[in-house]
Amino acid sequence: MKSNLISIVLLLLLIGSVYVTAEEGLFCGISKMDITPTEPVIMAGYENRTDLSKGIHDSLSVRVVAFQSGKDKLVLVSTDVIGFYSGTAEIIRQSILKKYKLDPSELFLTAIHTHAAPSITLDLENGHPNNVAYTKILQKRILQTVGEALKNVKPAEIGTGTGYSPVGVNRREVFYDEVGNPRTWIGRNPSGVQDKEVQVLKILQEKKLAGVLFDYACHSTSLGWDNYQISGDIHGLAEQFIERYFGGGVVAPGFAGASGDIDPWYRVLPGFDTKNGWVPEPVLMGTMLGEEVIHVLRAIESMDCGGEIRSDHISLELPGKPRGEWETTIDHPKTTIDVTVARVGEVAFVGLGGEILSEIGLAIKVASPFQQTFIFTHCNGTSGYMAPQHRFIEQGYEIQSTPFASTAANMLVKQVVKMLHAL
Ligand SMILES: [Zn+2]
Repeated sequence: MKSNLISIVLLLLLIGSVYVTAEEGLFCGISKMDITPTEPVIMAGYENRTDLSKGIHDSLSVRVVAFQSGKDKLVLVSTDVIGFYSGTAEIIRQSILKKYKLDPSELFLTAIHTHAAPSITLDLENGHPNNVAYTKILQKRILQTVGEALKNVKPAEIGTGTGYSPVGVNRREVFYDEVGNPRTWIGRNPSGVQDKEVQVLKILQEKKLAGVLFDYACHSTSLGWDNYQISGDIHGLAEQFIERYFGGGVVAPGFAGASGDIDPWYRVLPGFDTKNGWVPEPVLMGTMLGEEVIHVLRAIESMDCGGEIRSDHISLELPGKPRGEWETTIDHPKTTIDVTVARVGEVAFVGLGGEILSEIGLAIKVASPFQQTFIFTHCNGTSGYMAPQHRFIEQGYEIQSTPFASTAANMLVKQVVKMLHAL
């Protein structure tokens, strides 16, 4: 009886070791590191803020999920900053690719687009020295966090689910000028097109919850342009809420979906102040989003431990906006946008290096051959806004500031869908 038991134990150990050494099935490594600035910095997102930041509302982090299946890898990086502007996307991206010998298609370097975080710059001539120093530290910490995730891969199971959140709202409020032409300002347009889906990816390791990846299309701007406190805003506070709820080292990387025209339903009330510096709106909105992620997560039962990884990446050249059209005084040159697509089993990821309006993201999701397609914006680049052609007549901020021609969005959707089919 005893020898039978020993044989069974030895057999189980053997099966276990074969399983690990053969590197079959899906492996995953998850890591997180603090990136809260320790010195006052120039904050990103609004030109009116010229003073340095004044204190911390809540901390910033970089979170990494690295998948591995056989020799194929996929590294998803979520960073609590606005985006890798001023040429930093390429510098940081290349340093990760080089150090860890990744193919360009295997890396999604993204930002949650919080407007309450430091401006990212390595340009000492134009950037504040504190921001340059911060960006150097940030680059090191991102590299370190990616390294930790890749080093600590373990067998994993993944499952997905979706929910709904009213935290964001279409911000393109259309009105008519004195001669009856449509015009748009940034306000609230509750009947405007919007993707309110909350996408969740659950990651189990050794049957225990290890990671909660979520994706929601909304600007993390509830603190607004008068705020001088550092914060992850909506996405950052949702990440923190989920991690605090589960505890035990669970990491919850957040991603911003196609949210070029989506703002928070609430921004800070003017004149409201509390003695301890606690600001209700980002906490309220971040908590609501985090609550929904947890509700979705708890309902995910079907888990998959297989998962072939496939990925592709291109720098897609698209036509620029011509002079004379839509209040443009210059001929915009052809502009490229970074497109990264990947699949892990039956789950697809699309990374776009710009601020895509919600209808473009929806068009990709609808046409995707995958049941679950996560759209990550502010990914691997910062090519600016992109709007669907039929929105150009309404004009407004996103149309004025886009470098792309009105035909670009259709071309992007076609290309992304083609790449998804080929995965
Ligand atoms: Zn934005």
